[in-house]
Amino acid sequence: MQLSVVIPVYNEQESLPLLRTRLLPVVQACTDDYEIIFVNDGSCDGSLNLLKNWAAENKQIKVISLSRRFGKESATLAGLSASTGQAVVLLDADLQDPPELITTLWEKFNQGFDNVYGIRKDRTADSFLKRMTAGAFYKLYNRLADTPIPYNAGDFRLLSRRAVAALLALPERERFSKGLFSWVGYKNTAVPFTREKRAAGKTKWSYWKLWNFALGGLTASTTLPLKLCTYFGLCVSVVSFLFAFWTAYKKIVFGNPVSGYASIMVAILFFSGVQLITLGVIGEYLSRIFTEVKQRPAYFIDEKINL
Ligand code: UDP
Ligand code: MG
Repeated sequence: MQLSVVIPVYNEQESLPLLRTRLLPVVQACTDDYEIIFVNDGSCDGSLNLLKNWAAENKQIKVISLSRRFGKESATLAGLSASTGQAVVLLDADLQDPPELITTLWEKFNQGFDNVYGIRKDRTADSFLKRMTAGAFYKLYNRLADTPIPYNAGDFRLLSRRAVAALLALPERERFSKGLFSWVGYKNTAVPFTREKRAAGKTKWSYWKLWNFALGGLTASTTLPLKLCTYFGLCVSVVSFLFAFWTAYKKIVFGNPVSGYASIMVAILFFSGVQLITLGVIGEYLSRIFTEVKQRPAYFIDEKINL
């Protein structure tokens, strides 16, 4: 198999027909030896029926239907494990990633790159808030994590077989793909593209989900917040020690001047705050450790078609 295209699908019945008309000619122009793997992530609209009909017509269209909604990361993982192509393209079903760009990704792959990722050169299709928060996240992430992720790169990319094998060898359950793609390394290159508006429907990501996704990504890629807590605690302790020393000195030299209510309150509130934040940081890591040690599979498959 030359080329696999993996597409996670959650309630995309409006976009899917358009996706098919745009995707098939592009893929067929690259090679005849292709497969398109749709991973149905527990859709509750007509997506699965549509996919089943296509799979019945064209054996190169394959469907994996998960037992419920597991999220995009797990759906992508399911598709990657089932893929057999020498190159695997990850594509969104909503046409925000233009399928026509696969031609360029394919060319780059043939030049020997393992990880050819799309860079959004223009994010005006996203809301102002989304752009701002995404920008801040990339900056923070790249400052903290061991391996930086390219600015404005999404999941839209082509991976070589060995890059896919490397990704599948990573055992974690809560997967932050963007971080993993760059963590595995290999030869990578960027292809700029303009991210379009969704063909139909709405995004499945609320800000709350995005926030948790960002936290998950950070805690998965760096332990620096834990270290920062240690050093911050150390600084605070040194200052406190000096202050305690000064208070004792004052008491010995000037007798027993009663310090004000304000200073005591400030000290109590400040230190409780520091302690709670530190506990929170530890808790974030702990909850992730908990999820990982349970060792639950990332997804269950309900049905496979043409696979
Ligand atoms: N998706 C999925 N499971 C989910 C959420 C999304 O498989 O729980 C799919 C969705 O069908 C689409 C892709 O992941 O093909 C990207 O989703 P979306 O467009 O909502 O994300 P955004 O483009 O806003 O980041
Ligand atoms: Mg989208």
